[in-house]
Amino acid sequence: MIVEQIWTANAYRNFNYLIVCPETGEAMAIDPLDAKKCLARAKENGWNITQVLNTHEHGDHTGGNRAMIEATGAKLLAHKNAKAAIPGIDRGLDAGDIIKIGKSVELETLDTPGHTMSHVCLLSHTDTPALFCGDTLFNAGAGNCHNGGHPNELYMTFANQLAKLADNTRIYPGHDYIENNLRFTLDREPGNEEAKKLLERISDQDPAHALVSTLAMEKQVNSFFRLHNPVIISRLRETFPDLPENPDARTVFLKLRELRNSW
Ligand SMILES: [Zn+2]
Ligand SMILES: [Zn+2]
Repeated sequence: MIVEQIWTANAYRNFNYLIVCPETGEAMAIDPLDAKKCLARAKENGWNITQVLNTHEHGDHTGGNRAMIEATGAKLLAHKNAKAAIPGIDRGLDAGDIIKIGKSVELETLDTPGHTMSHVCLLSHTDTPALFCGDTLFNAGAGNCHNGGHPNELYMTFANQLAKLADNTRIYPGHDYIENNLRFTLDREPGNEEAKKLLERISDQDPAHALVSTLAMEKQVNSFFRLHNPVIISRLRETFPDLPENPDARTVFLKLRELRNSW
């Protein structure tokens, strides 16, 4: 499986992706907002885009569909419940559905509500798994719930699905928010050495060659996976004095999400 991460260099800091079968050159474009860039990259490499997948219905993920499909005739895939919000879906996706690309690539659909209620993540069936996570999981952060989402569902997605993936899963998010997110981590947990080191490492990185994290790294630097951390809990109790001494993971997640909204 070839994964081509395409940096759009737009104000929203979107990443687009091409997932390619190395045997046939067939490709699927994930959230190809910058259709022009994605098409150019495919052309350079001799790849043939036959499918377009939207992780969810927001315009910064679907905005390139028309241009991409006009140019390639690709089929459009998205969550089965996004049909009203995304015009022209050819295949509505359900949890567990397998997406094939060419001969050698299989991606499994995860139904991951929270950022919106019709959001999918894709998990590759490869020796080193890869997760294409749209606006659900970011490097060192979690998606917001302002536009059609619910923090409680986002928590359930993190706890019941994402946290249970293999530690070596490579993480491919829909936006480059790593720097700001690491600053949030350090605001919550000032002594987090891994987050400090990572912030230093990525501070002058070119997003066109962005660091790809793993789930193991996320568990070290992403507050939304560190819900039992005593420093995070004690600092939350300074802001929310009503929090019990040993709050449950859900409560910690929801309070972190609430703080991040205004941070
Ligand atoms: Zn979104
Ligand atoms: Zn987005």
